[in-house]
Amino acid sequence: MDEFDVVVIGAGPGGYVAAIRSAQLGKKTAIIDKRWLGGVCLNVGCIPSKSLLKNADVAHTLRERGREFGFSIENLQLDFAAAVKRSRQVSDRLTRGVGFLMKKNNITVYMGEARFSSRQSIKVTTKDGAVEELKARDFIIATGSTPISIPGVSIDGVNVLTYQEAILQEKLPQSVVIIGAGAIGLEFATIWSAYGSRVTLVEMLPRIAPLEDEEISAELDKAFSKRGITCLTETRVLAVETTSTGVRVTTSSKDGESVIEAEQALVAIGFRPNSQNLDLEKVGVELTERKHIKVNDKLTTSVPNIWAVGDVTGKLLLAHVASAQGIRCAEAIGGREVIPLDYNMVPRATYSHPQVASFGYTETQARELGKAVKVGKFPFQPNGKALGLGDYGGFVKLVVDEDNGNILGAHLIGPEVSELLPELTLAQANGLTAADIARNVHAHPTLSEVLMEVAEVVEGKAVHL
Ligand code: FAD
Repeated sequence: MDEFDVVVIGAGPGGYVAAIRSAQLGKKTAIIDKRWLGGVCLNVGCIPSKSLLKNADVAHTLRERGREFGFSIENLQLDFAAAVKRSRQVSDRLTRGVGFLMKKNNITVYMGEARFSSRQSIKVTTKDGAVEELKARDFIIATGSTPISIPGVSIDGVNVLTYQEAILQEKLPQSVVIIGAGAIGLEFATIWSAYGSRVTLVEMLPRIAPLEDEEISAELDKAFSKRGITCLTETRVLAVETTSTGVRVTTSSKDGESVIEAEQALVAIGFRPNSQNLDLEKVGVELTERKHIKVNDKLTTSVPNIWAVGDVTGKLLLAHVASAQGIRCAEAIGGREVIPLDYNMVPRATYSHPQVASFGYTETQARELGKAVKVGKFPFQPNGKALGLGDYGGFVKLVVDEDNGNILGAHLIGPEVSELLPELTLAQANGLTAADIARNVHAHPTLSEVLMEVAEVVEGKAVHL
């Protein structure tokens, strides 16, 4: 039986990052994955989707704005399969990089499915049925999550898809119904519509991007409609049937029932944790009602030497949250002092066009908390860099505590706004105020000048408004 200090189960952004930090702290470390290094994020999630979104951006510019930029292309041919192939190359390159990092840090990799046999040992079954048992002092569970479907709707992977089939298929659907207007639905809507698909987005809640600030949802809805994406909100999907030509989606809204016919449907309504098939009950690891693994601030489960990070903990299903937990968990195992994550204040981004980025409380949430709230809003329209990019829709909204100037949240929509979050989150975490951001000199011309201007709005004196 091979023996380790730390064994990590799952090699996604939670697990592989935890393994590296653990090895860096001098622990003899192993990692197990049943499918691939890099997890969902690198193989079929964050990374290939961002590559496809870059293609979508180029495709949209050429199809819709070629004349404005001075390109006239007769018979423009868009090869969607080539975009998918490029995304696979990007993904492969990064996952190979994870393999390299495992070797560099002397981490032993086991490819196989893990199940606990006791609190100190785990069994790994490889694809060919061979079983190995590993012993460790500490275990980190980082097994991620799996997409769920609507009750009664079965995913056939051909007409009715989850992101897993959608991200790998080289075919461009001529028409598609996307069920769920969260980050994944919004990103696929951007990709497919840019290539000319007829996209209908169906959301049960009153607005698309339902967890974002209301003004962000409204702006995104406007921008999507301009791109020809049909957004149906407060609309529930009752049934998805396959037909000889694709799918028939029956919906219900305040106007009654209706039917949408399309070539494909993408179900993007949420995830369930991969906490089953690990024999957790055998070792006494407790789950929440929704089957997430219960963890404390240090990422310890109900069993002191078993830890959990990433989607399986159900905090925020984001790669950087999984990695941040992974680092903290490995450091806690290594005896380091760990500052717990403030999940309210971690950055969140949706890479649709326009992009959406946020952290902290929305204006409504801040008011509901009883805070005296001061709000600043500044558009991208007067920003020279945005104008040069030809991408100047959207705005930044800063929510500040009127009593002490502390930043309570920020909500951004527009060009590359995900890149603008770190200045704001760093300010928030270190107790800096809008006045500090306003006084920080920003390079010109940059999109980041909008942060300085919005901070000036909060202070009551923006120059370019
Ligand atoms: P995962 O990445 O899911 O990795 C879990 C690993 O565990 C897998 O490799 C799996 O094979 C392995 N495993 C499971 N069970 C076992 C077992 N019993 N034995 C051995 N191995 C096992 N997040 C962002 O922050 N930014 C984005 O832009 C973004 N885009 C996304 C786009 C899409 C289309 C999707 C689907 C997700 C996206 N996400 C994004 C979310 C992000 O991918 C996840 O939050 C992240 O992958 C979670 O990391 P994890 O380590 O918890 O799990």
